[in-house]
Amino acid sequence: MADEEHPAVTNFRKYVRIKTVQPKPDYATCTTYLQGQAEELGAECQVVECVPGKPAVIMTLPGEDPSLPAVLLNSHTDVVPVFPEHWKYDPFSAHKDEAGDIYGRGTQDMKCVGIQYLEAIKRLQKGGGGGGGGGRFLRTVHLSFVPEEELGGLQGMGRLVHTETFKRMNIGVALDEGYASTTDAMKVFYGQRNPWWILIKCPGQPGHGSQFLQDTAGEKLAKIINFFMAFREQELRRMEEDPKLTLGDVITINLTKLEGGVQFNVVPAELSVGFDVRIPPSQIEVFQERLDGWCKEAGEGITYEFGQKVMEKAVTCAEDGKNPWWDAFASACKKMGVVLEKEIFPASTDMKYIRRLGISALGFSPMNNTPVLLHDHNEYLNEQVFLRGIEIYAEIIPALANLRP
Ligand code: ZN
Repeated sequence: MADEEHPAVTNFRKYVRIKTVQPKPDYATCTTYLQGQAEELGAECQVVECVPGKPAVIMTLPGEDPSLPAVLLNSHTDVVPVFPEHWKYDPFSAHKDEAGDIYGRGTQDMKCVGIQYLEAIKRLQKGGGGGGGGGRFLRTVHLSFVPEEELGGLQGMGRLVHTETFKRMNIGVALDEGYASTTDAMKVFYGQRNPWWILIKCPGQPGHGSQFLQDTAGEKLAKIINFFMAFREQELRRMEEDPKLTLGDVITINLTKLEGGVQFNVVPAELSVGFDVRIPPSQIEVFQERLDGWCKEAGEGITYEFGQKVMEKAVTCAEDGKNPWWDAFASACKKMGVVLEKEIFPASTDMKYIRRLGISALGFSPMNNTPVLLHDHNEYLNEQVFLRGIEIYAEIIPALANLRP
């Protein structure tokens, strides 16, 4: 079996075995590996460290007309931690079972995509199609392999976009990660929800635990929690009742923190509660009003602060005939028989930094008929699904890179 393995699969498994796992990713080995890949591609390669020890590797295949806006194929190199005791196989062994399922942290999120870009270009080059060397694309193609996405990208893409290097790259469109789909269709993401981490502080009358004190922190806290939970229930019901709605269309709320109290018989002067809220771009203002209303209604003196408050309304136009990049992407997918489901990404990716600059960005990981296992135990990807993804990118990349202005 091993002898017959497709070289792209072997390459993928090699990449999965590099332990770029947070909180101490082995970026050094990863960079060396990627430099080798750039060499194979005949691509220019630069390593940019916006933060020392946290390298972004950027490969460039100059186009016939480098003055045209370029194509960026982005992926992140880091992966989230594992709990090995819950895995069937060592999460960094890239074990392949008899069904061709390749197990490993990063097989879905998102080392698959990084390798698929590389292998699609290798394939195009072999076929004489544009990709550096002999046959070139019309536009320049950059591949960025960025660090720290799993920590919010603040020390990765978040910094990279502000560098001279990035400005010189002159990006017109970017591709980045999506996630798996359990059906035959594939998901494409044109925007993402905004995470708000809200800590609400409820002050109140302190005193002895034996009294009916007025205006206590606990009463206010209870009201706040009830408001949030009732709204949570409402959004959940809205999603359940309309099968067309996805997580990207609704506001999710989770109570994630409770703070306060000193001892059982002391009524505290303050209690606080924290929520993780995820808001679609179109519902930012509406939720802000709700939040202010709830705090006012729950009692005197309630304040809130944010651990994180993203206010990103930028989405990429994914309507036919209105954005040439979208049209090129969508028609390439159609040609490959890929049925697309357009969605707002429920969590956060590095594309927020790109869309903020007004650049079109699509999140796409060509994995269908695959359970969604990003950040989960036993993350795997079937080799046939992986190989099919390469074929799909081999259609998408030239469609974008040869798009006439
Ligand atoms: Zn990811």
